[in-house]
Amino acid sequence: MRLTEKTLTINKTRLEERIHALSQIGKISDTGVCRLALSPEDKAAVETVKGWMEEAGLTARIDHFGNLIGRLEGRNPEAPVLMLGSHIDSQPYAGRFDGVIGVIGALEAAQTLKELNITPNMPIEIVAFCDEEGCRFNKGLFGVRGILGKLEDGELDRTDKNGITRKEALIEFGCDPEKFKESEYSAGSISAFIELHIEQGPILEAKDTPVGIVTGISGPLWLTVELEGFAGHAGSVPMHMRQDALVGAAKIVVALNDLTSEDVSAPTVGTVGSMKIFPDSRNIIPEKVSFTIDLRDIEIERRDLIEQQLRKKIHTISEQHGLTYTISEDTNSEPRYCSERIKKLMSKESANIGLNAIELMSGPFHDSLAMSYECDYGMIFVRCKDGISHNPKEFSTIEDISLGTELLYRTAMKMALD
Ligand SMILES: [Zn+2]
Repeated sequence: MRLTEKTLTINKTRLEERIHALSQIGKISDTGVCRLALSPEDKAAVETVKGWMEEAGLTARIDHFGNLIGRLEGRNPEAPVLMLGSHIDSQPYAGRFDGVIGVIGALEAAQTLKELNITPNMPIEIVAFCDEEGCRFNKGLFGVRGILGKLEDGELDRTDKNGITRKEALIEFGCDPEKFKESEYSAGSISAFIELHIEQGPILEAKDTPVGIVTGISGPLWLTVELEGFAGHAGSVPMHMRQDALVGAAKIVVALNDLTSEDVSAPTVGTVGSMKIFPDSRNIIPEKVSFTIDLRDIEIERRDLIEQQLRKKIHTISEQHGLTYTISEDTNSEPRYCSERIKKLMSKESANIGLNAIELMSGPFHDSLAMSYECDYGMIFVRCKDGISHNPKEFSTIEDISLGTELLYRTAMKMALD
């Protein structure tokens, strides 16, 4: 069954108008935006959304981390908050939907509740988190980690490419870093977090389905592999006598690709995205090669197994080519699973509106990743064209976004009245 506009409780026109209006702030091309965190464009967008929150009857504030928070009061104002949201900052060469639909969609859900005179049992807060993207100061999820008390030493001293520190940018934005504590949430004060987001991948489109329910965010394993052989003249060293580090590296790239492609039903992905060759000359046999490995899976056991197999392969290939090797681990994050309770509720609600929402994992991380350490969380993905994101070509139809927002609304309403 395809949903008709009449089955939508949320206001599709308003949703569309707001997404469009935000796409005009920091506009860089017909469909491209650039709203770097804590920039004047970011501020203009935050002020715009704040105005809409107030229009909707929410109490809105910008906290000291630069987060925008709109609150719909609950019957019990002391009860742990149900939080909905995402981010509206962007990459420098970005599309109109990443993060935006999660904030505008959440606001739409809250506004719909308000218009239907539904008072939630607990307060509902709609959040546009500051600096999810992390491109300006080279470290993301800032606002969400801020409210959870999880900022690291030195974060305020990080600089952008113009030498402006995070601290200066925050002050310019109107925040007071001396008052961070006032903006933190105490443990247990958030009951759950729900984020609506574009998929940023091709799965929903391939399955011809507008909306998906996320099972979890797969944490990446990041390794750096260094191979060392022996340099020699490309014209004189016979093939069987070579210790060519690049040939070894090439075989490892293929091995990773094979290992992660074996089970086509699994969401495992493996990538070598960066490689350095020494001495990097056309007539010298490569002596040293270092490259990165990014390995992800929602099932940590399967990821561990592939890692073990890959390490064996690296060993064998190195032996074959007379290479020595080192493998260093840069990041090892565990997958963070969505709450079963929220997934079940989403699945029930999607069936109620005739949506056959499939389950899928998230490869990229989101604000939800930080929230997953604090409370139950759930995510709804919306189909996007060709899986393109972080690109002005990023596109989702308003029909699909409306369906995702409707599911967000219905899920939040059920949770709010629980
Ligand atoms: Zn995003």
